[in-house]
Amino acid sequence: MLQSKLFTKTRKEGPKDEVSKNAELLIRAGFIHKEMAGVYSFLPLGLRVFRKIENIIREEMNNAGAQELLLTTLQDKESWQKSGRWDDEVVDIWFKTKLKNDTELGLGTTHEEPLVALMKNFISSYKDLPFGTYQIQTKFRNEVRAKSGIMRGREFVMKDLYSFCKNDEEQKEYYEKMKEVYIKVFQRLGLGDVTYPTFASGGTFSKYSHEFQTITDAGEDIIYLDEEKGIAVNKEVYTDEVLSDIGLVKDNLVEKKAVEVGNIFTLGTKFSEALGLTYKDEKGKEIPVVMGSYGIGIGRVMGTVAEVFSDENGLVWPESISPFDVHLITIGDDEEIINQAKELKESLEGDGLAVLWDDRDVSAGEKFADSDLIGISKRVVLSAKLMEAGQVEVKKRGEEKAKIISEREAFSKI
Ligand code: ATP
Ligand code: MG
Repeated sequence: MLQSKLFTKTRKEGPKDEVSKNAELLIRAGFIHKEMAGVYSFLPLGLRVFRKIENIIREEMNNAGAQELLLTTLQDKESWQKSGRWDDEVVDIWFKTKLKNDTELGLGTTHEEPLVALMKNFISSYKDLPFGTYQIQTKFRNEVRAKSGIMRGREFVMKDLYSFCKNDEEQKEYYEKMKEVYIKVFQRLGLGDVTYPTFASGGTFSKYSHEFQTITDAGEDIIYLDEEKGIAVNKEVYTDEVLSDIGLVKDNLVEKKAVEVGNIFTLGTKFSEALGLTYKDEKGKEIPVVMGSYGIGIGRVMGTVAEVFSDENGLVWPESISPFDVHLITIGDDEEIINQAKELKESLEGDGLAVLWDDRDVSAGEKFADSDLIGISKRVVLSAKLMEAGQVEVKKRGEEKAKIISEREAFSKI
């Protein structure tokens, strides 16, 4: 991609009404566009990061044997009335709408109800269980406060997986497996060192759920972290009784602000009983299916990474989700440099790397400032001076020092 052709431009300042760092940086760097509070569109650079996050999560869900599907946003209220979650008194974040004939519809906040209703067509015998299915789909939530940029959207994309099991034991096994998968996912997303499985409220379904909490001042949650064990407990359930139950000791815990990037839940038979999702066991007896649900917000992950890994100059993407692999910067427009850039770009692309080439007719200072703001994980600089010595400059975003390597090395090493 040529930067001169990129329709987005960087800006010196974010919108005046934007209070969150992630949105401010992402808007200035041209990754997202703010439509209104809590509602953001993804621009080409932002979409590249978004897709990379999505694909890492998709790969890990597929590796775990889960099958991808895609449910609808428009929701028939019937299933939700059966579970008791249609009522605005019970769920206060609904966006609702109406058909021309006045039939009420909801915009999905989550998808337990429709999926359970759907599964009644497919689950009938113990032989059908266990399995997991997931989607990467848009949710709507009428959040009261939407001041955290893309970490808290009113419209946002979530990966939500649901497990269907024969009994509690099988469900527990699935849950434990998913906990490990989540740890791997956050490692691959670059958040591994700052994200902790955290005991949280299990709702009405079970004793606890696990949240995956990333340490950041931009977070809205308070957690108590045992740094040695790498486990935390959410303030919501932080009592002496809970601590002794989960084997944590008060003196070993430190209070941290954090953001929930993922949440895994045991649902028990709450939804299967409400909607009548049962299977026949070996003896032909009808048993309610035992369920779990497992969410990760794509935008929330992206916003969290922007918060955690940015510096005073801009974004610092982890390699795995960087919008491009290499930001190629040419200083000056000598024919030789342009040819060298073309050759290097082709070679890198031939090796499967994505390259953004800053071929614009602007000053070196402007190119470097924009490069820092956009935050591509690796920068390669070509200039007349370097070229004379047969060298190129390579710098990892976030590291102080650049490396000077020989031109030949550049083709193999990058
Ligand atoms: P919170 O407590 O932050 O409001 P939640 O517990 O209501 O979140 P869940 O229903 O557990 O959220 O959703 C699963 C995942 O979806 C969350 O762990 C988070 O990553 C993401 N998520 C939830 N709400 C939002 C939102 N408004 N914007 C972006 N991502 C969200
Ligand atoms: Mg949650």
